Amino acid sequence: MRYISTRHGSQGKPEPLGFEDIMLAGLARDGGLYLPTEWPRFSTAQIARLAGLSYGDLAFEIMRPFVGESFDEPTFRRLIGEAYASFETAEVAPLKALGEATSSDAGLHLLELFHGPTLAFKDVALQLLGRMLDETLTVRGRHATIVGATSGDTGSAAIEAVRDRKTIDIFMLHPRGRVSEVQRRQMTTVLASNVHNIAVEGTFDDCQDLAKACFNDLAFRDRHALTAVNSINFARVMAQIVYYFWAALKLGAPQRPVAFTVPSGNFGNVYAGYAARQMGLPVSHFVVGANSNDILARFFESGVMETSTVVPTLSPSMDIQISSNFERLLFDLYDRNGVALADAMVAFRSTGRLTVGANALAGVRQLFDAGRLDDAGTLAAIADCRRRYGETIDPHTAVGYAVAQQHRRDRAVPMVVLATAHPAKFPDAVEKATGERPALPPRLGDLLDRPERTDNLPNDAAALKALIDVRRGLVPASPARAKVLS
Ligand SMILES: *Cc1c(COP(=O)(O)O)cnc(C)c1O
Repeated sequence: MRYISTRHGSQGKPEPLGFEDIMLAGLARDGGLYLPTEWPRFSTAQIARLAGLSYGDLAFEIMRPFVGESFDEPTFRRLIGEAYASFETAEVAPLKALGEATSSDAGLHLLELFHGPTLAFKDVALQLLGRMLDETLTVRGRHATIVGATSGDTGSAAIEAVRDRKTIDIFMLHPRGRVSEVQRRQMTTVLASNVHNIAVEGTFDDCQDLAKACFNDLAFRDRHALTAVNSINFARVMAQIVYYFWAALKLGAPQRPVAFTVPSGNFGNVYAGYAARQMGLPVSHFVVGANSNDILARFFESGVMETSTVVPTLSPSMDIQISSNFERLLFDLYDRNGVALADAMVAFRSTGRLTVGANALAGVRQLFDAGRLDDAGTLAAIADCRRRYGETIDPHTAVGYAVAQQHRRDRAVPMVVLATAHPAKFPDAVEKATGERPALPPRLGDLLDRPERTDNLPNDAAALKALIDVRRGLVPASPARAKVLS
């Protein structure tokens, strides 16, 4: 399997790359996102034969075409096995029926993706990605440095995925005082020597700009072999494809189609569902759930993508204005023309506006519905799910739960709502909605008592680079640097 950038051809004609190279690179050099040159296809008969496999065995079958020769079979099976052994349930992603078979909500399901170490769906991909990176770097005798910014869930999932690995150091920036206590502690209580938490005096956007500044300094980037594990890394999309097959097979695919509702931010999760459909999975449609930051919902209604300012909501991991993975869907809407898409994306960056034609819009609307839910609606949805079904859901899942019910196209088609976080990750909102504070699972029960370690830094790229140089021992700490760091 070979990979190209969504902007291929816009800056010369680079050769398509193999899986390990695109996994290590994250973002393409031309600013685009990597995709396979073509999707592996599974016939109906091949999908039918996957029914009944364990999660790990299914993951192996679905992902094998993407990794190709990068890992031999026993190695890849071992990496998958270790990744999903870190989950609380042997099933990895339990599927729960909500509606009664005969009622108007028949076929409504929750797919619980939050049983990994940090209680959000990001573990499903990152637990595997951390192990694949370590394997590749070990074989190549190399070291890589991950630099990233987080407003919450990504940081802890990435840290948990690479802690204690000799081949990787991770520097994770978060805005000081602006992430929840549970989210902060899930990062800062990891005391492994390769984990460096940095609290920045600034906002999440400042953190992102600092991380970008590291990548844009090419000498620095090469010196540290910088790697990104944010949701644009194709390896994450790949690992997320598996659970769409998993849920659909349990509900009667390939003989029967299934619909999915996905609480969305960067469009990475729902894009993986789209990929599963491209591979042959019969999906009737997707519902994209948005909170008040509804750029995606507005796009699917109007064909116009237009940015506005981000407002904080009860579902902070969806407080995003520019959904980075959306470029992958646009690539198909632009008939895989990388040059035209590169032009459109550059124009979008400067004008904040992008439009697709009526035909392209009609095409995507056959497959995607979108809905939005504000904070009051989110609290009402948490309470409603609890009252009706006895299930406590987190605010992100609540957005999906509510919009799914507004977008059932056919009651005979099962509707799966992706449950993206454990309710205990967002205890304040859940308590407000239900009157009860959800408890952390036992393995995180002492989180609030564990010691923390963090570096505080001003919003200053030079200070950040100096700290990374010193920690990696690549530049001796001069008195001037030491002063910046103190
Ligand atoms: C990251 C995240 C999302 C959004 O996922 P995308 O892939 O960015 O669309 C939704 N819910 C939770 C809990 C998350 O952590």
